[in-house]
Amino acid sequence: GKKSPPIQVAIVGLGYSGVELAATISERLKNTGTVKAINFQTTICPNAPPGNREAALKVLESQNIQLFLGYSVNCIREVYASEDSGSMVADAKVGGDDKKLVLELQAAQRGLQSQVLEADLVLWTVGSQSQILRLQPPDAPYVIPLNGRGQVETEETLQVKGHPRTFAIGDSAALRDPSGKFLPANAQVRHLLD
Ligand SMILES: Cc1cc2nc3c(=O)[nH]c(=O)nc-3n(C[C@H](O)[C@H](O)[C@H](O)COP(=O)(O)OP(=O)(O)OC[C@H]3O[C@@H](n4cnc5c(N)ncnc54)[C@H](O)[C@@H]3O)c2cc1C
Repeated sequence: GKKSPPIQVAIVGLGYSGVELAATISERLKNTGTVKAINFQTTICPNAPPGNREAALKVLESQNIQLFLGYSVNCIREVYASEDSGSMVADAKVGGDDKKLVLELQAAQRGLQSQVLEADLVLWTVGSQSQILRLQPPDAPYVIPLNGRGQVETEETLQVKGHPRTFAIGDSAALRDPSGKFLPANAQVRHLLD
C-alpha cells in the first residue's frame, strides 16, 4: 500500500512535562515522524537548575527535535488538507484523517518573526500559567478551551474536550478526581498518569 507520510507532533511548552515528552516521542518515532517543540522563553525548563537545563537541551538537540524558542502559541486552527491541490483550507467541519492542525506562533522576544507550523497532533504542556499574548477571536474555527483557572478541560484520555488531536498534559490539564474535585498541579499527580 501507500506509505503513510511522516507524522508531525507539536509540543507547546517546554517545562518538565514538555521536555520529557519531546525526548520520549522523538525516540519512539525514529524516522517515522518529526517533533516540533515550542517554548515561550528562549530557554527550556526556565525554573530548573542551569545544569539540568543544559543537559536536557543537549538531549533534545541530539534527537533532531526542531526547537522554536521565544514564541508563544496563541491560536491552533483545524484545517482540511485538500488532496487534489495539496493546499490547506481552513474548515472546522471536515471530518476524516485529512485534517491537520495549524499553530500560530507569535514572537515573544524581540528580533523574532511570527511563524505558522503544521502538525497532526498537538501536546499542550504550558503549565498552570499559559502565556497567551493575544486572545483568539471568538469566531476562530479552533479555540484553546481554557477554563476560569487557565487550564484545559480534558477527557480521561487527556484529549482536549471536542478536539481529539490535541492533548493537554502536566499542570495545564484540569484534572479532577472521581468526585469532580480538582487534583493539585504537582509531580505526584502527573506521575499517576504515566
Ligand atoms: C514555587 C513552586 C514550587 C513547587 N514545588 C513543587 C514540589 O516541591 N514538588 C512538586 O511535585 N511540584 C512542585 N511544583 C509544581 C511543579 O513545578 C510543576 O508541577 C511542574 O513544573 C509542571 O511542569 P509543566 O511542564 O506542566 O509546566 P511548567 O514547568 O510551568 O512549564 C510550562 C512552559 O510552557 C511555557 N508556555 C506557557 N504558555 C505558553 C504558550 N502559549 N506558548 C508557548 N510556551 C508557553 C512556559 O513559559 C513554561 O516554560 C512547584 C511549583 C512552584 C511554582
